[in-house]
Amino acid sequence: MKEENLIELIQKYDSPGPRYTSYPAVPHWNGLPKKEKWLQALNRDFKDGIDLYIHIPFCQSLCRYCGCNRLIKRDRSWGREYVGYLKKEWEIYLRNIEENSHQTLKINSIHLGGGTPTFLDPIDLQQLLSLFEPFTSKSFKGAAEIDPRVTQREHINIFKDFNFTRFSLGVQDFDPEVQKACGRIQPFEMVEESVSLLRNAGAKEINFDLIYGLPLQTRDSIKRTIQLVKKLKPETIALYGYAHVPWVAPAQKLLEKYSIPKGFEKRTLYDYARVELDQMKYKEIGLDHFSLEQTSLWQAYSEGQLKRNFMGYTTQVSPVTLGLGVSSISQSPQFFVQNHKDLKKYYDALDRGQLPLFHGHTMSDQDLIISRMIQNLFCKGHTQVDTSPYEASFGRLVMEKLIMMNKDGLIEWKNKEMNLTKLGQIFLRNIAMIFDPNLQSNDQRFSRTV
Ligand code: SF4
Repeated sequence: MKEENLIELIQKYDSPGPRYTSYPAVPHWNGLPKKEKWLQALNRDFKDGIDLYIHIPFCQSLCRYCGCNRLIKRDRSWGREYVGYLKKEWEIYLRNIEENSHQTLKINSIHLGGGTPTFLDPIDLQQLLSLFEPFTSKSFKGAAEIDPRVTQREHINIFKDFNFTRFSLGVQDFDPEVQKACGRIQPFEMVEESVSLLRNAGAKEINFDLIYGLPLQTRDSIKRTIQLVKKLKPETIALYGYAHVPWVAPAQKLLEKYSIPKGFEKRTLYDYARVELDQMKYKEIGLDHFSLEQTSLWQAYSEGQLKRNFMGYTTQVSPVTLGLGVSSISQSPQFFVQNHKDLKKYYDALDRGQLPLFHGHTMSDQDLIISRMIQNLFCKGHTQVDTSPYEASFGRLVMEKLIMMNKDGLIEWKNKEMNLTKLGQIFLRNIAMIFDPNLQSNDQRFSRTV
């Protein structure tokens, strides 16, 4: 496609919109379900085992681009107290499940995310993982996010002891000037050392998180970053677009003194990286993800089993994901519930012996249909279009917009299914937004789609 045509399309479609790690997106949730209902659902849906997400919110220093839920602390004793509260939360769930079902709970997977999981002192990490070990299933998979700046050999040995084999390293960019602007100094050798320790400890799948669209990034600098990535050969790569939302993450204002790539220039950075990755035999998957063949991600994708949830793309198969820790989100087929985002409120609820929930959503039949279409688009690149959940006028609008996107070359129809084209991949979020009746135009709570 000619450059000017792509620029025109980016100008037409680039707008704020959800990343659809859930449908409905969190700002559109309809409120916390009664806690008894959530627990009943859990007791009904946990029989095939659950996936656990555990959020460790602490980081030792602030990366200026960060939009995550994190607390900057230098003192690791915060981690020790926090692990005590995770234990309380876990015990509330455990008591409830055991009392009501008299069945043994099985954990199919644990994902340790943050913040920075290895902010925890190794002893505290060990204490934490010991809580769950008696419940892990035979096919258990453990995954953790790794910050190479604070991860020690002791952490990695503990992960090995608990059969964790998947790791995601926050790399973002190897260019020293970009790192300096972002406040995250992390030389190549440091990442190389972490990868080597992880490989020696039996890591089966390593992911690198990279970001395009950071301040001072150029076409040449992102190429150099990818060339360094090549030396370490992670199995998968998540290449996220930088989301500049200083009204949500005020520290991002510090980046505004640099040039921040936007629109077409930002997209070009992605394309430069994509071409390099393609030459290195990485396959593009859904939104912003790349994988070598024979990884679990690639296998799930090629078998049509890939899912999308709050961790992004996942190969998890349990019907329930239980989120522990401040701000964590849990989900079952019928509900989403979220823990308090404020650490004090999270601790206070647990001190009262209550689940620390504050927000949630109950899925309607319409939500389930729309969610399935959006999941299909993100995870398979095609979907049947069902307008039955919509009022007649909105249903007509959906079809009109699809006709327009078809004319723009973003989608095509095959066997009564709507398929993303290569060009449509760039506008995946915009295409999904067509199906979302909750969206107001230009909703600034979301990052831009391109
Ligand atoms: S380490 Fe991760 S979570 Fe912590 S501030 Fe940096 S980007 Fe954010």
